[in-house]
Amino acid sequence: MIFKRKLLIPSEIKEMYPVSQEGMEAKRRNDGNIRSVFSGESERLLLVIGPCSADREDAVIEYISRLRGLQDRVADKIVIVPRIYTNKPRTTGSGYKGMLHQPNPQLHSDMLRGLIAIRKLHMRALNETGFSCADEMLYPENHRFLDDLLSYVAVGARSVENQQHRLTASGLDVPVGMKNPTGGDLSVMMNALKAAQSSHTFIYRNWEVESKGNPFAHAILRGYMDSHGITHPNYHYEDLFHLCELYADSGLANPGVIVDTNHCNSGKRYDQQVRIAKEVLHCTRHSADIRRVVKGLMVESYLEDGCQKPDGGVYGQSITDPCLGWEKTERLVLDLAELWV
Ligand code: PEP
Ligand code: MN
Repeated sequence: MIFKRKLLIPSEIKEMYPVSQEGMEAKRRNDGNIRSVFSGESERLLLVIGPCSADREDAVIEYISRLRGLQDRVADKIVIVPRIYTNKPRTTGSGYKGMLHQPNPQLHSDMLRGLIAIRKLHMRALNETGFSCADEMLYPENHRFLDDLLSYVAVGARSVENQQHRLTASGLDVPVGMKNPTGGDLSVMMNALKAAQSSHTFIYRNWEVESKGNPFAHAILRGYMDSHGITHPNYHYEDLFHLCELYADSGLANPGVIVDTNHCNSGKRYDQQVRIAKEVLHCTRHSADIRRVVKGLMVESYLEDGCQKPDGGVYGQSITDPCLGWEKTERLVLDLAELWV
């Protein structure tokens, strides 16, 4: 490879774009609210919701500002954590890899501009809406560019078996959701949780570091694809009950699951997310064990329904996975607040 240029380190970018005092306080409040869902102290439903990828700052900020209004209407039942996903795993490596790589999806990769763009986007969200958001930890060594802005971290289906992801998750002070792998083997996810909840000594950004273990590392069920390329859901009653049994035998702290209603659970039929979300809530009413383990949902949603090609040009429509548009999203969140008891 060609070493093109040396980039800034996290402390340098943070010095250029520091979080305000109000921002820090908002994040502390959000962190506490989210943690209390995973500890069982709060009965509220966690909703990790937003576009598959944060492709442009203006549309993402407009979307998250609308979520702010919605959060205030359902505050007694639901804790919203917006998805601002700034780096995307790609199945074959080709295609849009997110704002980190391409701050403008129409132009070539520019990693320095990308690092600055993702920090500015997460900062604007915090300053203008009070939300400290969720992002995927695709590249563990990049976490510290955003660690003072994120309240939730996901480890994706393609990364969950990787040791550096697991060890880094064990050192984070926010809940980390670890997805089932694309092939569906739940033992991979459970092993990831065991690793993330334990303490480790390892190398991180050229330092020898020690982690304490993350007691709020939890499962995310996202469906899976079999060896014939057929997608299968794993959000049904039997799947959730099986997960309860795995947790019971595991010795893990704070058993919890977020059900991802898109990806292989919907077969990317984005509009099915409404039905899937409600089915999960229905299951919680028929088993006390499932009610205890289900902490929330992950929904892919944006201003417009569906998706388009990266050069499609429709403002607020996903350029990666298809998303639920705003009207259906608003209806869904209000319905979930009614249904969640
Ligand atoms: C996502 O959440 O957009 C994503 C890429 O998920 P997964 O890792 O489950 O494919
Ligand atoms: Mn997606």
